[in-house]
Amino acid sequence: MTIGRVVVYVLAAMLAGVTIGLLKSWPAPEPAGQDVAGPAVASISVKPPATPQAPSSGPAPSSTSEAAPASTPASAAPSSAQQAVRRPGPGPELPPGAPVRAWGEGWWRTVPGTTEQVGTGRVHTYAVEVEQGAVLPAADRVFAETVDAALADRRGWTAGGGVAFRRVDLEEPDVRIRLTATETARAVCGFELPYDTSCYVKGIVYVSTPRWFRGAESFGGDLEAYRRYVVNHEIGHHLGHRHEFCPADGAQAPVMMQQTFSVSNDRLADITAATPQGPKVPRDGKTCKANPWPHPEVTR
Ligand SMILES: [Zn+2]
Repeated sequence: MTIGRVVVYVLAAMLAGVTIGLLKSWPAPEPAGQDVAGPAVASISVKPPATPQAPSSGPAPSSTSEAAPASTPASAAPSSAQQAVRRPGPGPELPPGAPVRAWGEGWWRTVPGTTEQVGTGRVHTYAVEVEQGAVLPAADRVFAETVDAALADRRGWTAGGGVAFRRVDLEEPDVRIRLTATETARAVCGFELPYDTSCYVKGIVYVSTPRWFRGAESFGGDLEAYRRYVVNHEIGHHLGHRHEFCPADGAQAPVMMQQTFSVSNDRLADITAATPQGPKVPRDGKTCKANPWPHPEVTR
């Protein structure tokens, strides 16, 4: 009787132990070190691109990158960005539009085609490239034609004299202009300022596809103008130009102004306060008109 009761107690205790053990292990514990910030599905369904091959030493963007180098701490960026969001008027947010693929394969195919030299002076050869998997093939021709048109325009960099361009495909170019998937561009250009943007890093222009397909609020719905702006602005970095600001209220924005974020000096100052993008933006209340051209004053 006593022994039987002890056996019952022992069995009951064992059963309780097993039950508690089961409860503890349900639901299944998260694997240690999982990135809680991202959706779990991303780690199995999306293949990150191979590290984009910025030539030579490491992925750190040069100082001419649109956003801060990846090594810069985010610090107060979100709060200043939120501050900027509250201001009226066009801002740095990506306009709505067609879905854009997040990832490409991390390598770029050359769009075939060459051009005659445009302009006189030092010739900069360029190649037009598209990240594999980032866009549908039909986008290649439009991208290439837009780049060609932006660089050949009479209001472009060649108008200043001393600069010429010629597109190459098989030849090794001086500069590559690459249509680049969202996440690849974020990895290369930085995403401390939480806005998609294009950049120039060590002889390569990375054009972010969400901006290519949706433009920027500053340009309203004028996607063609915005696309020409992006090409001219980033090639401006290749030519050695730094960022500029709105010189006079109501004037044409300099092509080297970060018009993707804003054409208002005050707003640009807010957006870039925590992650400077070159020379300090003056808070002088000046707001310009969006402009894609290095030399908008040229008429004929
Ligand atoms: Zn820039």
